[in-house]
Amino acid sequence: MKIGITTSKNDQANTVDLAMDYIDAIRLAGGLPLLLPSYPAGEEPPSAREILSGLDALILSGGCDVDPGHFGEEPLPALGRVSPERDCAEIPLAKEALRRDLPILAICRGAQVLNVAAGGSLYQDLYSQVGGALQHLQKAPRWHGVHSISVIRESKLERILGSTRVTVNSIHHQAVKEVAGGFQIAARAPDGVIEAIEMPDATFILGVQWHPESMVRHDAGMLALFSELVRVAKARTTV
Ligand code: MN
Repeated sequence: MKIGITTSKNDQANTVDLAMDYIDAIRLAGGLPLLLPSYPAGEEPPSAREILSGLDALILSGGCDVDPGHFGEEPLPALGRVSPERDCAEIPLAKEALRRDLPILAICRGAQVLNVAAGGSLYQDLYSQVGGALQHLQKAPRWHGVHSISVIRESKLERILGSTRVTVNSIHHQAVKEVAGGFQIAARAPDGVIEAIEMPDATFILGVQWHPESMVRHDAGMLALFSELVRVAKARTTV
C-alpha cells in the first residue's frame, strides 16, 4: 500500500525534512512510504487530484504552525513559525483526500491542517489561550508518554487503541478549537484540550494531536494506528 507522507521544507539548507520515525512506523505496519514535498512559493503546485490518484492513503505529518489566516484569524503574539508553502501544499491535499474518502492519518500539525481544511479552527497557542493548560510541549524524550487522554467510548479511535485511557507524548502548542463539520472529538486531555478528531462517516479519517510514530516501538496501540491505516487502505482498493 502506497502511503503518501507530507514533509517540511528546511529553508536554510533547501532540503525536504521528515523524521525517520514516520518511515519506520509505516514500514513496521507493512506500508510503502512515499514522501510528498511542498513547492516553491508563487509556483502553481501539482494538483491534489493528480498526487492522490497514485496513493492508497495519506499521512499529514507534524511540523510548524498553521497560518491563522486559513481560519479567519489575525496572528496572536505567541503564534510560532508558519510555512506558506506547506499550507499551500497540504490544505488542498487534505480537502481532496476528504472529498474522495481516502484513508487519512493526520498527526499533530497534520490534525490541525485536517481540521482547518474541513472548515474548523485552532488555538494558535494553548498556553496563552487556554487557562489551566497542562504541559503539552514535553521535555521528556519523544517516545515517552507524558499526559493521559480520555478516548471517547465507541469511537473508532477506541476500537483501534482498545482502551479509553491512554498515555501519549505531547509536542504541540496549537490544538483544535472549533471541530470541523462532519468530525467528532475522539479524545481529550485532562485539561480539556482536544487530542483526537475523527470522521464517523468516513472509512478512516483520524487526526491525533500526539506523535504515535515516535512511540510505535514502545506501545503496541500506537503501531495499531498505522496498521489500521494500511489495513483499511488495502480493503478499500480490493473492493
Ligand atoms: Mn498534548
